[in-house]
Amino acid sequence: MRRPRSALAATTLVVALAATATLTGLVGTSLSASADDDEGRAKNVIYLLGDGMVRTHVTAARERFYGSDGKLSMETLAAQGYVSTYAVEKLSGQPDFRPNPVTDSASAATAGAFGVKTYNAALGVDAKGAIVPTMMELAKKAGYRTGNVSTAEITDATPAGQMSHVLARGCQGPVYSDAACQDLAVTGAALPTNDVRVTPVADQIARNGTADVILGGGLGRFDADDEAALTAQGCSVLGSIANQTTATKADLAAATGQKVFGLFNRGILTVEKSKRDNPSSVQAQEPSLPEMTSKAIELLSQTKTRGEKTEKTHKSDKGFCLQIEGALIDKRSHANDAAQTLDEIKAFDDAVAIAQEFAQRDGNTLVIVTPDHECAGFNIREKGTFTNAEAATPPANVDGGNTANNSTPTRPSNARDSARSTGIVNGTGAADAKNFGPATFRIPTDAAGVTDGSPEAGLWLSYLPRNHTGADVPIYASGPGSDQLEGTTDNIAPFGIVGHAPRVIR
Ligand SMILES: [Zn+2]
Repeated sequence: MRRPRSALAATTLVVALAATATLTGLVGTSLSASADDDEGRAKNVIYLLGDGMVRTHVTAARERFYGSDGKLSMETLAAQGYVSTYAVEKLSGQPDFRPNPVTDSASAATAGAFGVKTYNAALGVDAKGAIVPTMMELAKKAGYRTGNVSTAEITDATPAGQMSHVLARGCQGPVYSDAACQDLAVTGAALPTNDVRVTPVADQIARNGTADVILGGGLGRFDADDEAALTAQGCSVLGSIANQTTATKADLAAATGQKVFGLFNRGILTVEKSKRDNPSSVQAQEPSLPEMTSKAIELLSQTKTRGEKTEKTHKSDKGFCLQIEGALIDKRSHANDAAQTLDEIKAFDDAVAIAQEFAQRDGNTLVIVTPDHECAGFNIREKGTFTNAEAATPPANVDGGNTANNSTPTRPSNARDSARSTGIVNGTGAADAKNFGPATFRIPTDAAGVTDGSPEAGLWLSYLPRNHTGADVPIYASGPGSDQLEGTTDNIAPFGIVGHAPRVIR
């Protein structure tokens, strides 16, 4: 079932006007503020989310790629702190406040993008289903250029959290369904299908113009009507939505203009290892997260035409707000795939390095790096020790061909080892899907000849569940206002700091 386009456009307009009204009040205040209020102002904001990545992910990636005395790029940012991430239950409010200690990406995205706590699966609505304006919407209305980049489907929770308002994150499109979009526990009765809160995310993204530059996966969520709507807004669509032709990294490299929409896979983007192993595959034509980051910054920061003139090609050089998500860290953590979890952290950190390089050149950019939550209890275990983790429905060993995941201490044969918690003699169970022992990785200081997957490898990693945990997450930041993220904060705090920096709020 699909509603007429005219009804959708009208609904979207109402939401946009509501956001404008809110913004007008906020910006009006900031423009008349005193000089002291310029503290923490920045021209640009780059907000990088390593989905599912917490301190142990960072530590493990550092050990793996740079050694104990090395640093990931994100670790070199001057301001560092910790962030609590709890969600709330549906209809929670005052005085009946009911927290949920473990958030999902939707609730966390809403906290970061909107500054409000909500229930898991909610995007851009509070715990009672009311619409709240997003940081990216506010930035757009205030004249900033905006970008949204993800290795997930662009309709997935983290990117969608800046550009849409739905009761349930599963309402992504391309078509509406009651099951995916309605939530009677929140609204009591079904909302009319022209209500934006039950309008598929893809329909909203293609029509509301919230992000100027959109790069990621999820082409299958969009249809020919969406392409027409994007084109009508002056958006350069890479590949073809109507023909479901994915864009390529060559298309991205050649892209120009103020508004660019490029989706490189019908679903989520491909892990880096698979692209390296299959260089002639269609998937190998997908850009990496660092490549998308670099291009998004180029498109959003350009103010001059190529050639002799200094004429501005963009209506505003006021600055930009850009969100970058490394989504596959979370997706591979859900799959308990340590090898690709680490690989994707590296790709994300390379994107952080690109953002930092820009910020250093620019001198007036706030860079924030943080995850939205922890995923799968990822941990660094003492070499030679084993856990008892054995879930009733564990994830399939989807990357069993990887020697690191299929490590010799745990899986030399095909039978479960009932004594697997007793130490290094974890002899059996290699192909048992329920036998998830340590993944072992060579680190730079290991002796020559020590390989991934061997018991001699220096880095032993394991997961607990296959889902998120409630651990506080780290935050790294640099640039104007970043000192406010030192110490311990909550995940609604960045909304105020990010919004204040480019004078979008306060
Ligand atoms: Zn997740």
